Amino acid sequence: MFLVRLVYTSEITEGVTESDIQNILDKARKKNTALHVTGVLLFSRKYFLQCLEGSREQVNKVYHHILNDNRHKDVVLLDYSEVNEREFADWSMGYIPEMEITRPITLKYSESASFEPYSMSGSSAHNLLTSLTKAINVV
Ligand code: FAD
Repeated sequence: MFLVRLVYTSEITEGVTESDIQNILDKARKKNTALHVTGVLLFSRKYFLQCLEGSREQVNKVYHHILNDNRHKDVVLLDYSEVNEREFADWSMGYIPEMEITRPITLKYSESASFEPYSMSGSSAHNLLTSLTKAINVV
């Protein structure tokens, strides 16, 4: 089975806290490891931006769960591509918190230095995640 990459953005639901995000990550890392899914999750302002990579079957399955999760809303698919290799193979789900997102890197891929994922192209959103993982210490 070949590899796919999926990038989406969403908005956090009111009342969801930092500790809820930690719970999401804990569960995601366990499930993704079992399914050989890798990727990164960025959270900034009130937005999530996530990249999932793995087999088409498993990425689609995980995305289906994510779509139905009421801890976020307004999920918009930004990119879905067949790929030859993984870019985030080191992370079952790497996390990029708000404090790590630099304005120069955001500006490189956006109209302004403010993080507005709904107005980004799939390619820019993906490149932003790739650049950040190279520039910072992803946990
Ligand atoms: P269950 O654990 O049975 O939960 C079913 C639903 O109950 C969830 O969809 C959610 O709406 C709700 N729920 C579950 N736990 C809680 C809780 N502690 N507090 C409040 N509501 C809860 N999952 C992955 O496997 N891989 C990922 O990479 C991944 N990334 C995510 C990124 C984001 C931004 C969000 C919001 C969720 C992510 N998830 C991810 C979680 C995913 O949505 C599912 O909750 C998870 O896969 C478990 O699925 P399940 O059917 O076993 O759900």
